[in-house]
Order: sequence, then structure tokens, then C-alpha cells
Amino acid sequence: MTHISEVGQAPLIDIDRVGKTFHGDIAVRNVSFNITAGECVALIGHNGAGKTTLMKMILGLISPSAGTLKVFGADIHQSGRDKAARRIGYLPETITFPPHMTGLEALRYFARLKESPVGGCLDGLAVVGLADAARKRIRTYSKGMRQRLGLAQALLGEPELLILDEPTTGLDPDLRRLFYALIDERRAKGAAILLSSHALSELQAHADRIIVINRGEVVAEGSLTELRRQAALPVLIRVKADGAHKMLTGAQPDGVGCRKLNGRTVELTCLPERKVDVIRWVATCGYGIDDLDIELPDLDRLYRHYRGELETRP
Ligand code: ATP
Repeated sequence: MTHISEVGQAPLIDIDRVGKTFHGDIAVRNVSFNITAGECVALIGHNGAGKTTLMKMILGLISPSAGTLKVFGADIHQSGRDKAARRIGYLPETITFPPHMTGLEALRYFARLKESPVGGCLDGLAVVGLADAARKRIRTYSKGMRQRLGLAQALLGEPELLILDEPTTGLDPDLRRLFYALIDERRAKGAAILLSSHALSELQAHADRIIVINRGEVVAEGSLTELRRQAALPVLIRVKADGAHKMLTGAQPDGVGCRKLNGRTVELTCLPERKVDVIRWVATCGYGIDDLDIELPDLDRLYRHYRGELETRP
């Protein structure tokens, strides 16, 4: 079955009820999703959830045990992996380069393998901040520099599809920012991106869609807003006021939780749809409010919810 997106675009990746079993152990079970051009989709899940296995199946490196999996509209195992691979940029979870090569030599080597122009390699290194180290041997590179080289390798030939397995692990904050800036730029140019990460707070600002995987199965899928709506986790409202403590003893609207954080600050919890009512109530109570903070559930809280570790109601 080919899924067509809302705007009528054929998906670059179309996965339908895919499963993978290793020696009788289920790694991926009944997974279906698709990704269209210009979309950044994040796979999140615990260690061993099946993220890398899914990515390797999309890349044609391993075959599914069940279901159908199309990349660029064709079964990658039948249409020829090498042809599709030229249109895909892949950054594996761990990447090693020949230590005796310079960064430029290594990138040119990968460019030749990918049949993309070697002429652009110096620019490719400059984009990831490795221009000065281009002619230094990789054995002298720091971990972050090797990560930069890995990213330059994945971006070779302006791929239509980027598959990035935990790309920001071990990167310093500057490099993380650079990484996401490059990803956003590629997406704006129409590339589709599938990435996995355990760094949830930075992910939520960049992913159009998030797929939560638990023990090989998709347990939730949607934009951050959609996941918030589905999970219906409480909103936290922190109120700093001279009379804050009176909120604990006075009459509160139904369904509102209230606890003291310190002498002048209380934290109220309510369902998202009650948020405006509760703020109105706080404003009309006349407690002399100094500050008010509203915290919507972030991806970290949502993830824990879908892993079953949080209460769903206030
Ligand atoms: P992590 O966050 O730790 O990278 P992951 O979500 O990427 O985890 P996978 O590497 O896809 O998880 O592994 C999913 C399951 O499949 C694990 O139980 C793993 O042991 C198993 N598995 C993966 N590759 C193989 C293999 N080649 N042979 C046997 N089992 C495998």
C-alpha cells in the first residue's frame, strides 16, 4: 500500500507493517509510517527499541522479515541498493575513518564511492567547520572533529534523504547548533530527514513529526502538538505571589492540583483545556501576582508518559 501525504506528495519512505526478527527474537514489530520531501521525522525510544534496525532496513542493509518497505517508490532490495544509496546520506551511530588519511582525502574517497563530484569536498569540510583541518591526518582529530567529518560525509552530493542515527551524541553545544542549522537548511531545500536521538529537548524544536518506539513497536506518532493532545498530560502553572499560600487553603476550581514550591510560589496543575480558566481564576483572586510561568509538557515528559512512567491525569 502506498500512502499519499495530505498535500498529495508521494512519500520518499513508505513503510507498511514492517517487522524484523533476529534468530526468533522480535526487534521490530508491525511498524508503519511514511516520510515525504521536506519533512524531518525523529525516532525516539529506549536502547534496543529497534531504531537502528529500522534505519538499516530502510537503507537496504538488512531485509525485513515481514511487511513492505519502499524507498523512492520502490522496494530497495529489488530496485538496487547502490542506485538508491547515491540519493541517501547516512550517518551511522559510530563511524570510523582510516586514521592515516587526511579529512580531505577521506571525504574525496567517500565522494568517489557515492559518484558525487570530488571538487566540492573542500567546501563540504568548510561547511562543518573543518576547513583548517582538511589536510591534517584523521588520527590527530578530536572526537568532535571526526563527528564533523561524518556529517560532511552524510551531506555529500546534497542527498534527497538523510538518515542520521544518533547524530548529536558526544557533540558540544556549538556543534549541536551547527548540526541542527545544517539539517534545517537541508529540509528547507526539500530533503527528507529521518533521525534518531536520545537528546529529546533539542529534538522537539526541529522535528516535524516524532515516532515513539517501545520494544520494536510504534506507541505514538505525531507533531509535538499532536502528542501533547493525545497524551493530555497536565499543564504546570507556577504562580509567584505575596498571597500564594492562600491558594492552598482557599477554594480551587475543580480538577486543579495545587502544591507549595516555596514561601511565595505555588504550582498548579490542570488539563491543557482548563489552562485559560485557571489563569483567569488566579488573576481574579487578588493575591498580588509577581510572576506566572506556564510549562507545557515537553518531549521528555511525553516520552516518559508513553513509556508508562507518568500519571496521565493531574
Ligand atoms: P540504541 O538506542 O541502543 O542504539 P536501537 O533502538 O537502535 O538501540 P537496535 O540496534 O535496532 O536498537 O536493536 C533492536 C534489537 O535488535 C535489540 O534487541 C538488538 O539486540 C537486536 N539486534 C539488532 N541487530 C541485531 C543482529 N544483527 N543480530 C541479533 N540481534 C540484533
